[in-house]
Amino acid sequence: MTEKCVFCEIANGRIPSIRVYEDPDFIAFMDINPISEGHLLLVTREHYPSTLDVPDKLLDKALTLAKRLAKAMLLGVGAEDFNLIVNNGPMAGQLVPHWHMHVIPRRSKGEIPIKTGDPADLTKLPFVAERIRQNLQ
Ligand code: 5GP
Ligand code: ZN
Repeated sequence: MTEKCVFCEIANGRIPSIRVYEDPDFIAFMDINPISEGHLLLVTREHYPSTLDVPDKLLDKALTLAKRLAKAMLLGVGAEDFNLIVNNGPMAGQLVPHWHMHVIPRRSKGEIPIKTGDPADLTKLPFVAERIRQNLQ
């Protein structure tokens, strides 16, 4: 897309990044503000704002790729556990509106910048689940 998107600029090499992987569809590079050592970002080369915009074929590839990267990352930085996180939209904490998946090694149970919610209302939860089921395609 766009001159203003930082990840487009990283993808086209106009902003430097520490890359760990690239292919015709994706690049992966180290997050500049890591949550923990080894935190990397898997990013589409094309500008897609959210997961809803990314073609299915690319999304399928993304998860396989995230697995490969995670394995390498865990071995690389000496961790066993990790988070794969995609924030979609500003309400969900997405700061850079260009699709990316965080691959974050976890060595302790400390907080991650996604707050867990309050306990669910168990009288409503089955109905919420049913509404989701009804919308599955
Ligand atoms: P979001 O909140 O959009 O899911 O996460 C954006 C991530 O991109 C943040 O973790 C932030 O540290 C990272 N980030 C933002 N700008 C840059 C940059 O210029 N270079 C790199 N390597 N990471 C960036
Ligand atoms: Zn972009």
